[in-house]
Formats: sequence, C-alpha cells, structure tokens
Amino acid sequence: MKKFFKILGWTLLTFIVLLFAAGSLFIYKVKNGFPVSYETEKPGISIPSDKPAVLLFSKTTGFRHGESIDASKPVLKDLAAKNGWFVYETEEGGVFNPEQLAQFEVVIFDNSTGPVLSEEQQITLQKYVENGGTLMGIHGAGDDSHHEFHWYELNLLGTRFSHHPLNPQFQKAQVSLRDTTFSPALAKSFEGNDEWYVFFNQPTNATIVYSIDGDKILPSGNMLWMKDKNFGMGKNHPVAWHKKVGKGKTFYTSMGHSKEVWANPDFVSLIEEAIRWGAKK
Ligand SMILES: [Zn+2]
Repeated sequence: MKKFFKILGWTLLTFIVLLFAAGSLFIYKVKNGFPVSYETEKPGISIPSDKPAVLLFSKTTGFRHGESIDASKPVLKDLAAKNGWFVYETEEGGVFNPEQLAQFEVVIFDNSTGPVLSEEQQITLQKYVENGGTLMGIHGAGDDSHHEFHWYELNLLGTRFSHHPLNPQFQKAQVSLRDTTFSPALAKSFEGNDEWYVFFNQPTNATIVYSIDGDKILPSGNMLWMKDKNFGMGKNHPVAWHKKVGKGKTFYTSMGHSKEVWANPDFVSLIEEAIRWGAKK
C-alpha cells in the first residue's frame, strides 16, 4: 500500500511539473511570438475581372483560432456564391505584392495573428489601402500585440489591444447597432456570445458600427501575476468599427473567437455587409 501511494505521489508530481512546463512555454510563446517565416513566392492565381475579388488571409504566427478559421471558410464561400465574389484563400504572404494585391477589392485578416508580413509586404498592404483598397480584420487580427506593424494598428484599429476577459472568458452580451447608415441589412440588436476584447482607448477617427454595454460584462483579464487587467471600456464598448484611410478604408470587428459565431446569422450578415461595403468604390 505504501509503495502504491509512493508511485501515485511521484506520478502526480511529474504530471504537475509537466503541466507547469507546458503552460509556461505556451505563455512565453503567446508573449514573445512563435518562430516566423515570410513567404515571398507569388502564387499562381487568375482573378476574374468581372467579379469583386476578396483575399481571405488566415496566416497565424501567434495564437491560432483554428476552429473559427475553419468554420469561416465555407461561410465565406457561400457568401461569395450569393454575391458573385471571387474569394482567394491563403495562409501565405506571397500574394502581398503590388501587382496581385491591387487586383483585390477587399483583403480580410481572418483571425490572422502574430507577425505575418515582411517589411516589404507591410508597405505593399499600406499602399494598397491608401490607394483605395479595403482592409478588414476579424477578432484575433486585432490582438495586435505581435503584428509588429505600427501602421496596421493605427489604421485598422486606431487603438491598442489590452486583454480579454478571463473570469469567465466567454460572456453573453447584447450587441447594438450604432452606425445605422452602414447597411440597412444589419440587425439593430442581437445577442453575442464571445471573448470581448478590451482595448486601451476608444478607436480614433472611427465610426462605430456595433457596441456592447461594457458595464454589463465582467472585463477582468487578471491571471497569475497579471493584476493590472481588471478594467473594461465602459458603457460604450465598441465591437465593430470602420475607418477612412487615404483613398481606402478599413473595417474591424473584435467578435469571432469561436466557430459558433459563423452559425450566427447576425454576425454573418455583418461580415457580408462589411465586404459589400468594402468592395464598393
Ligand atoms: Zn480569441
């Protein structure tokens, strides 16, 4: 019996040590980023000239919202068929070259996280938007702490990501329409169940499309030694907004953590209307 407890004790201890090591490694990687490589090869794509072209980019070098990314693809495909869009989907940065990028009406960072573009590719994206293109970001695309791309943070977000709630991580909230001119197809209000990103400030020079009442969620993202994340964005907590950038525009929504959002017709409608808005010249 004594031997049994000794074995049990050592097994438990080993398990705890391994769990701690794996946890520390994960936190280290989330904080410092994963190893990154940049693709430079131009993909062979033929973009039809009679359809608005959408680039669906879901490269991740930080946290990967794999289930949401996977769930988004068939939905986007259906929307493309319905609206007559051409969608090119990739996880490689090679398409971020001036000739090919210019052929897209809308570029979507679909839960793309971490540093994903080389410096040259970043400049290509910046020029693309300033010359009239549309950049859209979904959820993780705004956890910008690792994009290491200042222009992107300033012009897609106009603010800086702080944290997301952890106690609990997912909460229900009423999502209310603020910009009634964006599209008549959007729901005035719907219930969202998401990981509500908290940003340090209200986005600058942005038009808020949807917001939640931040006073009605538990915003604390405190964990272990992180004790400074117990704040939210107050009553007007934006969850979707758009900005004018040069001759182009950007749209961002912080919703979209889990695959379930892609089964929510009000969220899907927001994405559909944003792409239509983005493709409009
Ligand atoms: Zn998330």
